[in-house]
This record gives sequence, C-alpha cells and structure tokens, in this order.
Amino acid sequence: MLVVVALGGNAITPRGSSGSPKEQWEAVSSASRALASLVEEGFRLVVTHGNGPQVGYLLEAFDLLPPGTPRQTLDLAVAMTQGWIGFLIAHSLERELARRGLRRRVAVVPTRVLVSLEDPEFSDPSKYIGRYYGEEEAVRVSRELGWVMRRDPRGGYRRVVPSPRPLGILEVDVVRSLIDQGYIVVAAGGGGIPVASVNGSLEPVEAVVDKDLTSSLLALELNADSLVILTDVPGVAVNYRRPGELWLRRVKVSELKKYYEGGEFPSGSMGPKVLAAINFVERTGRRAHIGLLDEALEVVKGLKGTVVEP
Ligand code: ADP
Ligand code: MG
Repeated sequence: MLVVVALGGNAITPRGSSGSPKEQWEAVSSASRALASLVEEGFRLVVTHGNGPQVGYLLEAFDLLPPGTPRQTLDLAVAMTQGWIGFLIAHSLERELARRGLRRRVAVVPTRVLVSLEDPEFSDPSKYIGRYYGEEEAVRVSRELGWVMRRDPRGGYRRVVPSPRPLGILEVDVVRSLIDQGYIVVAAGGGGIPVASVNGSLEPVEAVVDKDLTSSLLALELNADSLVILTDVPGVAVNYRRPGELWLRRVKVSELKKYYEGGEFPSGSMGPKVLAAINFVERTGRRAHIGLLDEALEVVKGLKGTVVEP
C-alpha cells in the first residue's frame, strides 16, 4: 500500500507555538510517532508538508537585512523551507523508526511543480504572504521590489502572489525510484517550487502552490493507493462551528462535491483539502482521508476522520 500523506503546518509549528527550534523538534517528533506507526503497519509512505509559518519567517527575516543586501526570491525561500522541514522530518522519523527497531531511511527531494502563466491567478493574485505593512511602506516595497501589495481584510497591506493550480511534478520519477528502492520519501514541501514555461524553457516563478492540491497530484502521478491529509481537526464538517455542525465520517465524492460547490469550505483552510480529496477520488476511484495527525493510523485505516469514497 503506497500512501501519500500530507502534513499540515501544525506538524512543525502548532498553533500557539513560538516556532523555536526546540518546539519544532518537539512537534516533529510527535508527527514522527504518527508516521512511524504507519510504517510499522507496512504502509509505504510519501510525505508532503506545508510551509506557511516557515516561509513567513524567512520573508520577515529578509525584511530585516541591511539596506542594499540582495533579497532572495520567493522560489528560493520555498526551496529553503523544503530543506529545513525535510531535514526535521527525515532526522526525527529515522530516529523514531530506529527506536522501534525499523531500519528505514528517509530521502528528502527538493521538488518543482509545473504551473502555467495562463493561470488566471497570474493576472489576479490571491495569496497573502509575509508580514503586514503600513500604507507608506507598502508603496515603497511595491516600488523598490515590484511586489503586488493589497489591503488585507484583516488589516494593513500585504504582499499578494499568485496561487496557480499545479499541473505536473518534475521530480515524480525521482520520487518513484526512491520508493522502489525502499526509501520513505519527503517531497513536494510547501506545495513545491513553482516553475513555468517561458518561451520554451522552464523558469522559476514567484508564486505559491497549495500543498494539498500538489499532494493530490503527486498521489495521482505515483498511482498511490490513497491520499491522506493530516491536520489539526478530526475531519471535514459541514456547518463547521455553526448550528447544525455535522462531522462527515464516510462521504461519497459526489455528495462532498455538492457541499464544496455550495461554498461550505473556506479557500484558505479546508477548501483545498476537500478539493484535493475530490480530485484524487474522482480520477482514481480510490479513497482519500482527512483527519487528525495524532490519529494517523486510524485515519489511514478509515476508522477515524473523514473517508471520501468513490
Ligand atoms: P493545515 O496547516 O493542516 O493545512 P489549515 O489551517 O489550512 O491546516 O486547515 C485546517 C483548518 O480548517 C482547521 O483548523 C479548521 O479550523 C478549518 N476548517 C474550516 N472549515 C472547516 C470545515 N468545514 N471542517 C473542518 N475544519 C474546517
Ligand atoms: Mg492549509
């Protein structure tokens, strides 16, 4: 059983965490226990992960560099977070597996994802990243760095970047051969480093790709047996935090699609997970699971969380 497991931001930086190295190691070792229980049961894993807090941290750090220091681009920042979080997961998971007497290696693959410049997101970017700026500062960074700045409904101005749909994963053959050699693979971190075809050659672009959508595509391309999205809620609810809240245990993809199209799920959180699950299940006729990281094994077995069925 080959399973693509997507870890949410809480796997490394839980809500309320300061993000200190100590807290990251604590969070990732708890995530590693969850992942190790899957390996112990014989599942072959490809692990993907988000990078929101880490990329935000890097962008804030770049802002503090002395004037005149060249600023690294967003694609490089995403690449940095793939190394950063990949290292945390690989080191921690190998240690946890060794503790259980399992001698398995974890390989981390910096991963690029193909997007199209024709994607409507490039003319109307939607994804807020980095810190909040005052109006004058926003005008200045927009002039100096060419950033698109937009007023965030939560207050202040922030940089917005396109969040295009992932179309392909450049390293999919690398990932596949590592799996075939018995490695546990960490790939597609932060949704992947976006590259697009520009006059016939592939160029990195300053955009971010949703990690759940990339995970779904990776699961498709690897012909995985299931897609498992682990987060900090026990599954998918309709009327979430409203009267009539109902947690879905088993749901047919057609029914979930109706809820999705009815605007049940916010685009910044549960929306992309549900869409990722719908895409995978519709295209493969296999199942997708959404649930709590701490309940990974039960979620993968369909005993807990939300099971999306064909
Ligand atoms: P991750 O880092 O795992 O991607 P997100 O914050 O993006 O996490 O998404 C998980 C969050 O989605 C939950 O913490 C929950 O508050 C929120 N959420 C929004 N709508 C729903 C819903 N309908 N059912 C369950 N959770 C929801
Ligand atoms: Mg998310």
